[in-house]
Amino acid sequence: MNVAVVGAGLTGCLLACYLARRGLDVTVYERRSDPRAGTPERGRSINLAISERGLDALRRIGLEGQVMADALPMRGRMIHPVDGPLDFQPYSHDGEMAINSISRGALNNTLLDAAEAAPGVKVRFGHRLTGLDPATGAMTFATADGETHATADVVLGADGAGSAVRGELLAHRGIEESADFLDYGYKELTIPAVDGEFALDPGALHIWPRGTSMMIALPNPDRSFTCTMFWPTGGTASFASLSSPAAVERHFRTHYPDVVALAPTLVEDYRHNPVGLLGTVRCAPWQTDGRVGLIGDAAHAIVPFYGQGANCGFEDVVVLDRCLDETGGSWARALPLFERRRKENTDAIAEMALANFIEMRDKVASPVYRLAKGIEHRLERAFPGRYVSRYELVSFSTVPYSQVKRRVRRQQQLLAGAGAALLAGVIVAAVAGIRRTS
Ligand code: FAD
Repeated sequence: MNVAVVGAGLTGCLLACYLARRGLDVTVYERRSDPRAGTPERGRSINLAISERGLDALRRIGLEGQVMADALPMRGRMIHPVDGPLDFQPYSHDGEMAINSISRGALNNTLLDAAEAAPGVKVRFGHRLTGLDPATGAMTFATADGETHATADVVLGADGAGSAVRGELLAHRGIEESADFLDYGYKELTIPAVDGEFALDPGALHIWPRGTSMMIALPNPDRSFTCTMFWPTGGTASFASLSSPAAVERHFRTHYPDVVALAPTLVEDYRHNPVGLLGTVRCAPWQTDGRVGLIGDAAHAIVPFYGQGANCGFEDVVVLDRCLDETGGSWARALPLFERRRKENTDAIAEMALANFIEMRDKVASPVYRLAKGIEHRLERAFPGRYVSRYELVSFSTVPYSQVKRRVRRQQQLLAGAGAALLAGVIVAAVAGIRRTS
């Protein structure tokens, strides 16, 4: 049995490690050159937040310790208002639980090393999939030396949001696909270390919520921060609207005043760094005939506002592995089972990720939100394990995403009921008091 994994990104490399443990012959095809050999291609975010779902997947193959060695735990959000003091909001009721800022490049390299070291795994860099016959597993690749061909018993597309494998399934098998792009994009900026030290608290994910725009910053092991600014891609208040260095500086002085002093290359970063697109990709089915399947962003790319895309891709790998266990290694049964188990969960996190954008850019700064969070943390302390916030269930547990949605809805109904009962009690007592005094 030989398996082709298309894409040596985060999901593809981890998948290769898991498949190797099953004694399969795995070839990973990657369009880029080896990122360990030179300057890695700049694509997505420089760093990302890895939380329990991702760590669980790494732990199962003994990689958690190595990945976590350079991780920077972030125990809450640090809110930066336009003026006034910073506001730290812990992620968990005990203030102890953390998501981890990890270098994307380092994580990918660790996974590549692990995949290449696994018996039966070969990685072919500089191989861009350009054609696939889903019926036979025959693949065509563009390489520096021209076109080359290969065939596999099973082909797994781990080639990201713009998946070529998904494109081939679309062309040959008429699968359904939707790609909903936000009218927001993102741009990365840098806050360097100051005298070898972090310029901001490295124990928090920093947020500058500004209503229709926002910026976040995550710490890096070299003591710098990578800021990601989210803003509309078009219109009068958008990335396109700042056309001169003076306009960029003015905008930051008005909306992100504390960043100006900390980011000496702000204007150059702004002018030279590209605007990335953000969107949600949904498709179905994820597989055909148990021979070709999709996984990770290739099956379900989501917006990054819950910090779950890679975590979710890693969790996919664990679930697929479990499906192979349960079907005695039959791909014909495991791939449909994987899709049945996973689709409602990836749909659920796609929805929660979109909702979290509004929470981060808008709500976190409001006193009502802070009050609600305070009450939520108190409830979590009063009913440990019985009342758990959405954030904790998503980031610090492996409870399936769809169950998280259902459970949070039940909790909110109970809370609304309790609130209504409390209010009714207060009204009855007040009416009784009025009657007594009149
Ligand atoms: P990718 O990372 O896209 O990897 C796909 C691989 O396939 C690449 O190596 C690519 O070169 C290769 N490839 C593509 N086409 C071909 C082809 N035709 N032939 C061969 N190879 C091909 N997730 C989190 O969990 N936490 C975060 O904090 C977080 N922050 C994010 C911030 C931003 C700004 C963005 C945009 C995303 C963020 N994500 C985060 C999401 C995360 O980056 C993705 O979910 C994750 O990278 C998906 O991994 P993947 O391996 O499925 O796809």
